[in-house]
Amino acid sequence: MTFDELGLAPEVLKAVAETGYTVPTPIQAQAIPHVLAGRDVLGIAQTGTGKTASFTLPMIDKLSRGRAKARMPRSLILEPTRELAAQVAENFETYGKYNKLSMALLIGGVSFGDQEKKLDRGVDVLIATPGRLLDHCGRGKVLLTGVQIFVIDEADRMLDMGFIPDIEEICKKLPFTRQTLFFSATMPPEIQRLTDTFLHNPERIEVARPSSTGATITQVLVKTTRDGKRDVLQRMIEEDNVKNAIIFCNRKRDVSVLERALSKSGLSAGAIHGDLDQSTRTKTLDGFRKGTIRLLVASDVAARGLDIPDVSHVFNYDVPSHAEDYVHRIGRTGRAGKSGTAVTLATREDGKYLAAIEKLIGNPIPAAKEEALAVPQEAAPEASAETCDEEPKEEKRSRGRRGGRGRKDKTEAAETPKAEAADSDAAAERSEEHTQPEPVKAEERPARRERGGRGRERDDDRPVVGLGDHVPAFILRAVKLPKKTKDIDEELEAEAEDA
Ligand code: AMP
Repeated sequence: MTFDELGLAPEVLKAVAETGYTVPTPIQAQAIPHVLAGRDVLGIAQTGTGKTASFTLPMIDKLSRGRAKARMPRSLILEPTRELAAQVAENFETYGKYNKLSMALLIGGVSFGDQEKKLDRGVDVLIATPGRLLDHCGRGKVLLTGVQIFVIDEADRMLDMGFIPDIEEICKKLPFTRQTLFFSATMPPEIQRLTDTFLHNPERIEVARPSSTGATITQVLVKTTRDGKRDVLQRMIEEDNVKNAIIFCNRKRDVSVLERALSKSGLSAGAIHGDLDQSTRTKTLDGFRKGTIRLLVASDVAARGLDIPDVSHVFNYDVPSHAEDYVHRIGRTGRAGKSGTAVTLATREDGKYLAAIEKLIGNPIPAAKEEALAVPQEAAPEASAETCDEEPKEEKRSRGRRGGRGRKDKTEAAETPKAEAADSDAAAERSEEHTQPEPVKAEERPARRERGGRGRERDDDRPVVGLGDHVPAFILRAVKLPKKTKDIDEELEAEAEDA
């Protein structure tokens, strides 16, 4: 099938042809004709499937007929993060270059003034994050009664971030007769409930299992220790094969610490997480896209859905505690037909989380040979003898009735739901979207736990077995470290004392 067969207008087809795309992806082939015909669509698809163009292309086509009135946008697209909103805006610019559509982007971290001026002139396409949109509505600067096409993108991530009440409020402001396009990578019960309420007799299109990982990605599991992690990471990065990489940490503060440590050891690194202001985030992302920043240390929320076509490596500096995040993280590499490598650094405390990931993806993650990694002895005395799932008996006993992980380190405080919310990127992102930041209450984020995250543990204690095959050569080669972690730690401590 070609794009010409989908019923799109010549202007849109010309813009598509200029991007070099000739064959529509499955979600595009299936969704575009229905969107053009005015049907509601429920798209179960993750990023990387071409889902953005599956709604932007027919929207441009439909909106090219008609004119926008002041403060009354003709279409509305809700995105969970600013980066995704900006990415969708880029799509409209690329594919809409031969159509004169006006567009406004309402995202946190950008001044209200410029956004209001655009709204006053009237916009065809309004792309927004939920909190910021509600702020504008509250100020009487935007009326949603003229919205003909409504898109909710990444609905499951909206759920994770506590945006559902905001979305429900926004929906009340929309006209009853409208076309709704709803996209989600997964369909937990809360999302199913929303689709039952928001969508009218939708065309359901499912293009890939949410747990599927790209075939172009070589996955590797590296067993290490908490203290040895940074050395192992630097060791791998120092190899030529790592052209550029996104390095994921579970917590915002670890993103900052790791970025500073990498920079101090002479590596080109930048950080992105929800506590950073928008201009810093945009600048860092631009630098990474252009190649002036080689390593992007990131949190899940800030990097969610980022479309950077040429990322050679993804490192999970921390094993994600929500298995689905693993799929999303490693999907940042191996895009657009290119090959990529996803390395997961795991300590023995991560066994349960690894087991959940492997259950989700349906395969064990091939393990690198431990001795080949040469974790420095002083940093990791027990690393070579442990599998990730084996905990010392002491620690296992200390779990007691809580059923938790029994960690006794400094991160424990952050693992109670309340503290987690305070440190969570989603919480920061959500409150930043509003003018008056409000803390996210733990009870506002029930979805993660219900969806098999932190609270749900695997039934069996099957050890995680790596295959040991397909280990990239760069992992097996010994390299010199530019600087020892210990020295960097000392410098960081000194820096903190000075501050
Ligand atoms: P998305 O799932 O919307 O994040 O898109 C993932 C990537 O696929 C983006 O880099 C798009 O530019 C690219 N893409 C979208 N449509 C096509 C297509 N028909 N053929 C090849 N690549 C595409």
